Amino acid sequence: MTDFAATKAMFHLPEGMIYLDGNSLGPLPLSAPADMERVLRDEWGEMLITGWNKADWMQKSTSIGDRIARLIGAETGHVIMGDTLSVKVYQALASAVELNPDRRVILSDSGNFPSDLYMAEGLIQSLDKGHELRVVAPEEVADNITDEVAVMMLTEVDYRSGRLHDMKALTQKAHDHGVITVWDLAHTAGATDVQLAACKADFAVGCTYKYLNGGPGAPAFIYVSPKYVDIARPAMSGWLGHDAPFAFEQNYRPHTGIERMRVGTPPVLALAALSSALDVWDMTNMADIRAKSKVLTDLFIAEVEARCPELTLASPRDANTRGSQVAFAFEDGYAAMQAMIARGVIGDFRAPNIMRFGFTPLYIDEADVIRAAKILEDVMSNRLWDRDEYKIKSTVT
Ligand SMILES: *Cc1c(COP(=O)(O)O)cnc(C)c1O
Repeated sequence: MTDFAATKAMFHLPEGMIYLDGNSLGPLPLSAPADMERVLRDEWGEMLITGWNKADWMQKSTSIGDRIARLIGAETGHVIMGDTLSVKVYQALASAVELNPDRRVILSDSGNFPSDLYMAEGLIQSLDKGHELRVVAPEEVADNITDEVAVMMLTEVDYRSGRLHDMKALTQKAHDHGVITVWDLAHTAGATDVQLAACKADFAVGCTYKYLNGGPGAPAFIYVSPKYVDIARPAMSGWLGHDAPFAFEQNYRPHTGIERMRVGTPPVLALAALSSALDVWDMTNMADIRAKSKVLTDLFIAEVEARCPELTLASPRDANTRGSQVAFAFEDGYAAMQAMIARGVIGDFRAPNIMRFGFTPLYIDEADVIRAAKILEDVMSNRLWDRDEYKIKSTVT
């Protein structure tokens, strides 16, 4: 079993704060500042342009991709880093749609994150071939997998409720109907024991600033299965996805394998911070993380339900169908979350009425869970949220 006290000691957690928002932005790994400083001074500072070869900057996108592959059950050599998640959604979807040229429906669900749906809308407009984005309720996805569907694009864990889709069953059904799958792992990479290869997922994408603790704006990743990696056409045909970028040929020819999903210059500094964050993962494995995460989220639900009758659970009760976050509905949830934050418990609010709390065994333990529930009880039973200052909305919620 993982020594979670040891992993907790690897992070900077501000004194007195209980951080339940690692599902939006993970905390700073203690090793990151020194690791980044080394890349800044010794590599960028001393090597300048020669760093691309001497410090292997160009290979970082694939070597770090391989470290992430281990955490999402992917084959080595099938994950590459770069860009942001929204861009990677577009890239995966564009390739997938093109691989199913006789069909016109992209199936998704209403629990998907807006950016994923917006990117699909944008792609459909650019293609101008009469594609339709069909958005159904999360429980109705399986019934809507038909021979009409070109691509099923789903986020495995619902960002609001934490509901976890059954990747294996849905992918199987999709394949039975000739549908290609795009899975967004934003709330599962580093949170649950994703098994891309075992589920035979076709494409997957995810970000690294949430449960993987890569820092604000950390690069995203894309996975393409062995079946498609050498035939998927990159819609964003940037020079570094070219088979021979430094031959500077006039026309585009995709690189073999996952490197074709590279677009432009890798974010070397951001990859340095991410690399530090991934060192923590060498101390654990996803099976241990998943088991402990279920314990923590179950405990939080039990504690809050016993203490706060004002709140309604808005996440699945069964831990096996829930990611690593817990949501409670409360009409004045925004103000209540501000009151919590003022008392050192950081979670977040998602419109219209969801108070969302993310848990990870890497740096949250049972004592934190109980303390957070007690503070929530205080905020609720004494109506501490009912103050004008807690009702003013900031730009980022
Ligand atoms: C967090 C999140 C995003 C954010 O995309 P960025 O391009 O990194 O800003 C997109 N999709 C899902 C499902 C997310 O949870």
